[in-house]
Amino acid sequence: MSRRRQIYEGKAKILYEGPEPGTIIQYFKDDATAFNAQKKGTINGKGVINNRISEHVFLRLSHIGIPTHFIRRLNMREQLVRQVEIIPLEVVVRNVAAGSLSKRLGLEEGEPLPHTLIEYYLKSDELQDPMVAEEHIACFGWATHEEMQDISSMAIRVNDFLCGMFAAIDIRLVDFKLEFGRIWDQDYSRVILADEISPDNCRLWDMNSGEKLDKDRFRRDLGGEEEAYQEVARRLGLLQGEDGPGEVFDLSAHRSKLRTTPAKPKK
Ligand code: C5P
Repeated sequence: MSRRRQIYEGKAKILYEGPEPGTIIQYFKDDATAFNAQKKGTINGKGVINNRISEHVFLRLSHIGIPTHFIRRLNMREQLVRQVEIIPLEVVVRNVAAGSLSKRLGLEEGEPLPHTLIEYYLKSDELQDPMVAEEHIACFGWATHEEMQDISSMAIRVNDFLCGMFAAIDIRLVDFKLEFGRIWDQDYSRVILADEISPDNCRLWDMNSGEKLDKDRFRRDLGGEEEAYQEVARRLGLLQGEDGPGEVFDLSAHRSKLRTTPAKPKK
């Protein structure tokens, strides 16, 4: 069996060359990092859950017309995605004050913002992802003016949709981070949503108790991160059985099992 070519290893994912040109396999690891990888650890089963949650979210977003890199989930930890030229920006959307915004501006965590904020950070480990203005993005050519218009309008549409999706399962979408990439068709390029959307890059608070159901449990040493990620998946209807042992339901495996189970002969 030939070995797959690894293209890149990030903090939470490994990218392999896909089966066809222009495709990539995203492998979700259990590794967790915070504070620019100064804090490292693992969250058991996180890769499996994030693969499933991200698949669900990207499929729902594509149904409302957001172009995404997602093609299909391959197995418990891997998904096939379109290869993109990643735009070197982290796009953070905020509905409620928390995290670095609270720290920077002295706002109390949990304070609703007068309106949704979009912030841009340069993807750079060496510089620790500094916040940048649209002026910097244009000045240094990280994205064009037209691309920024597409990015900001997609970010708002994603936020509107996800706020509703999570509110329906009693979760408050506090903030989240998106990444975008370019796909080329000869001389023309188009921006599509890339990376992942999961409790690793969203702040998700239980609507009633305020309990954190995201990576802040790991960042802030709160414990119970595995249970929190599972709870998000369970509420989204992605786990088999409401109170089951937390097994991730693999629909394609289930279907193929059904296909291989011989039908009962008719009497
Ligand atoms: O830390 P900060 O408050 O700026 O994070 C805002 C949001 O962006 C949080 O949901 C966080 O999980 C996400 N984020 C991320 N990756 C980063 C920085 C922030 O997913 N490198």
